[in-house]
Amino acid sequence: MVDRMVIRLGKYLRICGFDAVWDLRRRTQDLIRWANAEGRIFLTRNRHVGEHLPVARRYIWLSSDDPVAQLWQVLNELHLEPSSRLFDRCIRCNCDLESIAREAIPPDRVHPNVLARYRVFWRCPNCGTIFWHGSHVRNTCRKLGVALPAPRVAGDGRADAGGEGR
Ligand SMILES: [Zn+2]
Repeated sequence: MVDRMVIRLGKYLRICGFDAVWDLRRRTQDLIRWANAEGRIFLTRNRHVGEHLPVARRYIWLSSDDPVAQLWQVLNELHLEPSSRLFDRCIRCNCDLESIAREAIPPDRVHPNVLARYRVFWRCPNCGTIFWHGSHVRNTCRKLGVALPAPRVAGDGRADAGGEGR
């Protein structure tokens, strides 16, 4: 659970395949209650967490303003390995992606050039977004300082363009 000051961290955690949630409408106390109820770890820059009720059962106080540094603080403190589930999760919905055959993708969802260029695609079962490993994957890995995911099918290692399509 990320508080409203560190939403970018939540997105990075999803990119790394970890279950991360947030809600901009809820107050900090409500977020902490929610985290406690679901056994989630509360990730925050708020220095007063732990002093006021309700007390987060598990929380990490993030020492940096930089979302990438925050990500690595969380990964290190929780001994999480970021590369194993990289890009396995929908960044919008927080749910696991499922693979989809290229032939099964409706033609209006992904540009024909992308369909011609890439072999492996994933679909979010919740929002229906189609994903592929385009240049955004390589760029994101570089930004976050994590290793590129290994190609899952022979020929899937190229990453020259694209990203996601609805
Ligand atoms: Zn989704």
